[in-house]
Amino acid sequence: MKELATKARNGYGTGEWADNSRNCMIGCSNDCAYCYSRAKALKDGILADRAAWPIENTDDVAIARSHKKLDGLVMFPTRHDTTPENIKYVLPYATGLLEAGNNVLYVTKASLACMKIICRELSMFKSQLLIRVTIGSMHPMLCKFWERNAPSPQERLMALQHAFDNGFETSVSMEPILHGVEHAIETFTTVEPYVTEKIWIGAMNGLDTRIDMTNPNFALAVADLKKLQSKKELVRLYNELKDQPKVLWKESIRDAVSLK
Ligand code: SF4
Repeated sequence: MKELATKARNGYGTGEWADNSRNCMIGCSNDCAYCYSRAKALKDGILADRAAWPIENTDDVAIARSHKKLDGLVMFPTRHDTTPENIKYVLPYATGLLEAGNNVLYVTKASLACMKIICRELSMFKSQLLIRVTIGSMHPMLCKFWERNAPSPQERLMALQHAFDNGFETSVSMEPILHGVEHAIETFTTVEPYVTEKIWIGAMNGLDTRIDMTNPNFALAVADLKKLQSKKELVRLYNELKDQPKVLWKESIRDAVSLK
């Protein structure tokens, strides 16, 4: 577990969680409104059109490459999820990473069906795996609004519980939180019993740049979030949960409370 522990690293975003990252798909059917990876894929020129993001394409170059043992913890994936449609590509890729001896941080907004397959097929690599489920709110409509095609938070909770019950090291990403302080505390309290490692909490970043502000519903929701996740509110959240041993804070909240 020492090898897998996700101490806060010096990087930003996913760089705070792992030393390396790997992907085998381009595009993510979850199509979260705040998606950082979509913005990066557009910037890097691997995605031509924002509207094409929900289409899951194999990254044939990545899939053809042989796996090597990488230093430190490897986050997988960062620009797609594991879905019923792509698991036939994603699972062999994850298996290859693990067979090469890597310690893998497996991140997902998991469907229960996919989590059952992951836990069954990767059980022999349990000591190399830390499974992190992203749950930013326990409210289904809020998740539907921000993460329109992802499994409901209740299904993700069941997936987390399944991994926990099967003896995997488990973690939760509450980044981004999808509402205010009280919602975040409720989410923390709900997931905490099924987490063996850490719960990372972070605000929603890049509100004005990553979200489609031409959609009036998102423009209104962003205006609300700016109040719900103001510096004052993030400090309030920090003070409410700062003594919880499983909590780690993402940079957005460390900045708000002036923590290094
Ligand atoms: S699950 Fe992650 S990669 Fe997929 S759309 Fe949502 S934020 Fe982007």
